[in-house]
Amino acid sequence: MTSTREWCALIDCEWCERDDMRCRFCVGAGWWRPEKPHRDGNGAIDWIRVEEPCRMCAGTGKEHNPLMSAADNRAAG
Ligand SMILES: [Zn+2]
Ligand SMILES: [Zn+2]
Repeated sequence: MTSTREWCALIDCEWCERDDMRCRFCVGAGWWRPEKPHRDGNGAIDWIRVEEPCRMCAGTGKEHNPLMSAADNRAAG
C-alpha cells in the first residue's frame, strides 16, 4: 500500500501547508516509478521500473517547485 506523507522534511513548509497544487511529477500520488539502468549477467543494460517516493515533493504529493514565480502567484491571487 502506498500513501502520501503529510509533511516533507522541512519545518513549517509553506508548500506542505497548502493542498491546492498537486506535484506535477507524481500527480499528487507522492510516489513515482522511474526506470533505472540494471546491468544483467551478460553486461547488457536493462531498464527496470522501480517505485520510490517522489523526490520533487518528498512523498507528500504536493507541488514544491512550481514553474510560476512567486510574483506571478501573488498577482494571480
Ligand atoms: Zn514541504
Ligand atoms: Zn511528487
